[in-house]
Amino acid sequence: MEPNLTKIEALVRQLLVELGEDPRREGLLKTPERVAKALTFLTHGARVSLEEVINQALFTQTTSSMVIVKDIELYSLCEHHMLPFFGRCHIGYIPDGKVFGVSKLARLVDMFARRLQLQERLTEQISQQVMESVGARGVGVMIEARHLCMMMRGVEKQNSTMVTSSVLGVFRDHLATREEFLSLVGRR
Ligand SMILES: [Zn+2]
Repeated sequence: MEPNLTKIEALVRQLLVELGEDPRREGLLKTPERVAKALTFLTHGARVSLEEVINQALFTQTTSSMVIVKDIELYSLCEHHMLPFFGRCHIGYIPDGKVFGVSKLARLVDMFARRLQLQERLTEQISQQVMESVGARGVGVMIEARHLCMMMRGVEKQNSTMVTSSVLGVFRDHLATREEFLSLVGRR
C-alpha cells in the first residue's frame, strides 16, 4: 500500500509546530510536501516486489570462480532515529550455474536499503537474497557505513565507520574462500 501523502504532510506540519517553527514562513511553506515525498521515496524499497527488481535478469554461466562487485553506493535510514546512514557495499559470490545481470546487484542493495533499517540486518538480507536468487554456492557481503545519528549528535564518533559482514555457504565453511573475498574487497 502506498503512503497517504496528504496525511504525512499534515503530520510534518504538526511536527514543525511542535519543534517551535512556524510552518507558514516562506522557507517552510512547501517543506511538508517535500518531506512527505522524500520519506516515501526513501522507504519505497519495502513496498516493491523482488520480482520487479530482479526481473529475470539472471544468466546462465558455467564458471565457478568468484564474482565480486565492489563499492556499490548505499544510502539507508536507521530505524532507531530515522537518520541516514551511507557508505559502500561489497558483494562476492560463487555461482552454481547462474549469475546476476550487472546492474541487478545494485538494485537489490537499493531495494533493501530504501526502508527503515539496521546495518546488520541489511547486510544479512542482501547476502540471503543473493544466495537464494542465483542459488549460489556461497556469498559474502560487507558493508562499510557512516551513521549520521552517531556523527551529528556529538558522541565523538564523527569519523567512525561501522563495518558489518555476512557470509553464507562456502564463504562460511571455507576459510580460504572467505580470505579471498576479504582480500579482494580490500579488508582483513
Ligand atoms: Zn540511529
